[in-house]
Amino acid sequence: MIKNQTFVGQCCDYTYDGLGVVKHDAFIVFVKDMIVGETAEIIITAVKKDYCYGKILKLITPSQFRIESECEVSRPCGGCQFQHMDYSHQLQFKHDHVQNVIRNIGKLDNEVLPVIGMENPRGYRNKIMLPVGRDNKGNLKIGFYRANSHDIIESPFCTLQSEYSNDLIKKIKQLIIEFHLEDDIRHLMIREMSRTEMTMVVFVTYKRKVKNLQLLVDKLVASDNKIKSVIQNINGEDTNVVLGKEEIVLYGSSFIEDILCGLRFSISSHSFYQVNTYQTEVLYNKAVELAGLTGNETVLDLYSGVGTIGMIASQKSKQVTSVEIVEDAVKNAKENAKLNGINNIEFICDDAKVAAQNFYKENRKFDFLFVDPPRKGCSKEAIDTMIKFNAGKIVYISCNPSTLARDLAILKDYYFVELIQPVDMFPQTYHCETIALLVRK
Ligand code: SAH
Repeated sequence: MIKNQTFVGQCCDYTYDGLGVVKHDAFIVFVKDMIVGETAEIIITAVKKDYCYGKILKLITPSQFRIESECEVSRPCGGCQFQHMDYSHQLQFKHDHVQNVIRNIGKLDNEVLPVIGMENPRGYRNKIMLPVGRDNKGNLKIGFYRANSHDIIESPFCTLQSEYSNDLIKKIKQLIIEFHLEDDIRHLMIREMSRTEMTMVVFVTYKRKVKNLQLLVDKLVASDNKIKSVIQNINGEDTNVVLGKEEIVLYGSSFIEDILCGLRFSISSHSFYQVNTYQTEVLYNKAVELAGLTGNETVLDLYSGVGTIGMIASQKSKQVTSVEIVEDAVKNAKENAKLNGINNIEFICDDAKVAAQNFYKENRKFDFLFVDPPRKGCSKEAIDTMIKFNAGKIVYISCNPSTLARDLAILKDYYFVELIQPVDMFPQTYHCETIALLVRK
């Protein structure tokens, strides 16, 4: 196949990240925004060694699951993948993906449970991180990157965000123009906690000294009483990491708070915090329910972030030990325990693997493990040590089905995989969160 070649093909499957798979002669073509069963005229946009990319020129038979996108820029924008797909079909896609990797990578024959979806699958993001830059005409743009590029696509209304944060971005854009800061600001981060009505605004700048930034902030906070924290984060490095290490508080506090499962959590700019507060409650309640804690357990909580799961579990167990690698998050976690009057939890700032190995050497015992690693999953050494603890149950929460399946393939020799429950934390995107309950053999 060659670039710009056109053909008529039918979508027979999806990639893990939601592209349609179309087979044509001996070629495999990945097509954005195509739904299984659909036939379309497709144009080849890129040719790789073993596969091609294409896009729909003309849809010939649309799927019953195709809907009109509610977002004007969903085609070019890389933020969502599924604005063209009915929500029930998004959930089916996620279920089938988890089921496939559990079978093929995990070598398990579990039937994955139906995905727990969201009642209203829009406006859910409590955090938004947007690049700031100019387009080729020199106009200021604040938006998401186009998929696989650094072009900024600005949305008139992003449906993953609340009306409030859509308006706030527009207001900040006007202020950036008014104070001529177009070339000083790299990224804008907004954290909006609707339950506490507390908002944090972070301006990521190239340099420390930014003329007029304080004036912009003064005008911004005077017009919005939900803003409780404004931070300047300085990042002069030429990498893909958005936040730099140095920060200056320009207004208010260095953190804001959210309420989750009846507890208050303080969150700073650097700490990991789930982006969908409503569904996080669904996820944690499910995880704690599956854990079946009785109040007598000694619990180890690995990859604990700001201490959310550990603190919720501490109310139903004897003692919890939480381990997290990011110092700021551990600091928040300690404050969080104090804020909520929880005394039966300790927080350790360390690599999960190292901490687990140390606990094992010290002969510490745990009856129960929560693990909630980042996308790359647990390291082999961390799993080997987890197994040595011989805990009765493990609840593994994962944001990447493939690494979950890889890790379960090791754990299944020592634990029965009792149940696999996906929860949709990220509607309109291909991402899927999954809980696995393991019981010692
Ligand atoms: N359980 C928390 C956080 C889950 S995200 C919650 O639900 O909010 C994964 C967390 O693992 C992040 O906070 C990240 O900083 C942390 N992390 C990443 N690598 C780690 C490692 N090697 N050891 C310990 N923690 C790690």
